[in-house]
Amino acid sequence: MSVYRIGLMPGDGIGPDVVAEAVRVLQALEATSDLLFDFTGFSVGAGEYLRGGDPLPEATFEAAGSCHAILLGAMGLPDVRLATGVEIAPQLDLRERWELYAGLRPLRLYHEAHTPLKGYGTGGIDILLVRENTEGLFWSRKGSVAPGAEAAEDILHISRKGAERVCRAAFEQARRRRRKVTLVDKANVLPSMAFFRAIFFEIAPAYPDVETEAVYVDAMALYLVRNPERFDVVVTENMFGDILSDLGAALIGGMGMAPSGDVGETHAVFQPSHGSAPDIAGKGIANPVATILSAAMMLDWLGAPEARRIHDAVERVLADPANRTPDLGGTLSTEEMGERIAAALS
Ligand code: ATP
Repeated sequence: MSVYRIGLMPGDGIGPDVVAEAVRVLQALEATSDLLFDFTGFSVGAGEYLRGGDPLPEATFEAAGSCHAILLGAMGLPDVRLATGVEIAPQLDLRERWELYAGLRPLRLYHEAHTPLKGYGTGGIDILLVRENTEGLFWSRKGSVAPGAEAAEDILHISRKGAERVCRAAFEQARRRRRKVTLVDKANVLPSMAFFRAIFFEIAPAYPDVETEAVYVDAMALYLVRNPERFDVVVTENMFGDILSDLGAALIGGMGMAPSGDVGETHAVFQPSHGSAPDIAGKGIANPVATILSAAMMLDWLGAPEARRIHDAVERVLADPANRTPDLGGTLSTEEMGERIAAALS
């Protein structure tokens, strides 16, 4: 029997709805395996900020740190902002404080009806985007602009340590997949990106079995739409990864289909790539698949082979065109989708 202490941070907007369905699936797995989940809920996010003035209380941070892994829903609401004008984003604090440097964002197409592209069926798009999570263009996010300023600037910070560890993570992931890594940068214009590229090619010889290439980010936007099958693992800086993962999500059915894991040496947080989606919050129509697949990634990171069973259940359920939430063109509610995936596990 393997016991895992899982911290749940449902958060804001649709976060609680989609996390509830991932928990339903994990509990169905628990009932048919040797796994045991000990769940602890934590209040974090814009709602917690409104309640207590701190979106991530220190005691919560400490307690969450002792869990084996965290499953997070979504954080932030457009109307709840810090004095600097930016949204509440404690998930970014978790990434920085626990050094969750590798943002793993799988982009896998489960059904041809989910993609706006022609000629792609199940598995025809199967990419792992690895986003650097702790620096890059998000480096200046805690800065501010003085009232009446004539200019504002943000710094794109790439450290040797940051670039090396995320490139290594990408190569390691490639060894579990199709053994190809594409670096995405803007090395033809930005010195920080030329530095990133140099480090990528310093690391590459340690992985002679992995094919490498480097692509500029503007070209990548085009290739992702035209030839997504060309890519296996893609590694890039924080902001480019933020943008490209939304583009990639659009290729596989939208934000509701894109899971993620923010992984460091000691901690990991798993969450759907989407935000709190205030436009559909409270309607019971959010697609929980991204969160359910994030839970599967969490099991994989914890070393539980049962992760595969969740992937298989999602694949079986989505193979039937009747099983779609409104974002995929169907009519299932969040709960109905969760129930069908949980049922497919047994
Ligand atoms: P953030 O900046 O926090 O990542 P965002 O501004 O990119 O958030 P999201 O909350 O990710 O916005 O939502 C973007 C769009 O995708 C919205 O129209 C939203 O309704 C839709 N969306 C996001 N998640 C889901 C989901 N799970 N199911 C269905 N639609 C979703």
